[in-house]
Amino acid sequence: MLRIKKARFHGIHIPELALGLDYSDTNVKSIVVSHAHADHIPRNRALSQESNPIEVYATPPTAALMRLRGFRAPIREIPFHTPITIRNFRLTFYPAGHILGSAMTFIESPVGNLLYTGDCKTPASPATEGFDFPKNTPVDQLIIEATFGLPIYRWKSNEELKAELIEFSQKSLDDGYTPIFLGYNLGKAQEMMHMLKDMPYTKQIHGAGFPLCKVYEDFGISLGNYQRYDRKTSEGCILFTPNSGLESGFASHIKKRKIAYCSGWASHEARRSQINADRLIPLSDHLDYFELMHFCEQLQPKKIYITHTPDPNVVLHELKSKGLDACYLDLAAQEEDA
Ligand SMILES: [Zn+2]
Repeated sequence: MLRIKKARFHGIHIPELALGLDYSDTNVKSIVVSHAHADHIPRNRALSQESNPIEVYATPPTAALMRLRGFRAPIREIPFHTPITIRNFRLTFYPAGHILGSAMTFIESPVGNLLYTGDCKTPASPATEGFDFPKNTPVDQLIIEATFGLPIYRWKSNEELKAELIEFSQKSLDDGYTPIFLGYNLGKAQEMMHMLKDMPYTKQIHGAGFPLCKVYEDFGISLGNYQRYDRKTSEGCILFTPNSGLESGFASHIKKRKIAYCSGWASHEARRSQINADRLIPLSDHLDYFELMHFCEQLQPKKIYITHTPDPNVVLHELKSKGLDACYLDLAAQEEDA
């Protein structure tokens, strides 16, 4: 088994392999970036030391998105299902279903293998390359996120969510309102645009999300007819923005508007008043509690490490009741051990 350390800033450190996963420290030789959300990308400053070159690995769509988001160091692009050998280990990316390019990382080393999910979703978001994992090799160690690791989180199917998005858009427009969908600029916005691609209305997206859409189209995900948000022509379009955009004046001139908040956190009714939303749509790009359990049971790893979870005891109790060996990868606990 490999020794797994939660990192000081964020990410995972595998000291025996001099490898970091979504990692920002410089005491490694290689860093894998699972996907292009900001909290998973290493900081440029960490990689700018010529005396200590660190190789960065990512899938081609993740590399393209990282560059658009300001990442400047070289990236070695590795397509899905294409094993490469790095020093004393082998690395293979599998699609994680979270956002375009998002990858689960499978590491095979002389002392065992490890699957790191990064952020993941099964069934996959329709605006991704799907969800897949190593099926011919038993997994020794699984590091999996459990952002929605409570049994109150059970998602509707992608088809039901798509129908709800279409219904909300159509009803709003029929009643003379402009529909506004709230969600992250990378991933969530494009997932919603993809679900609404066949509606005969122009979609406008917040300026920070607009350039990212081209990467989706370049990699074969159709987003239909869309434009950069333009205040002058936005009324009567279907609009996409993060909450922060709305707070800084996005569509503030439109009097007749209907707001849908689209997030796993929309499961909580309290969000309605916090965000002033007309509709809460629990559309998440993470797996729900039941899919998390199903995936772990299907994989039967020797050891499971849980990260990012609201209450570790809930997930650990359920996994242990299924006969699985699981622990919470906690920085505080690790420091106590040390
Ligand atoms: Zn993410």
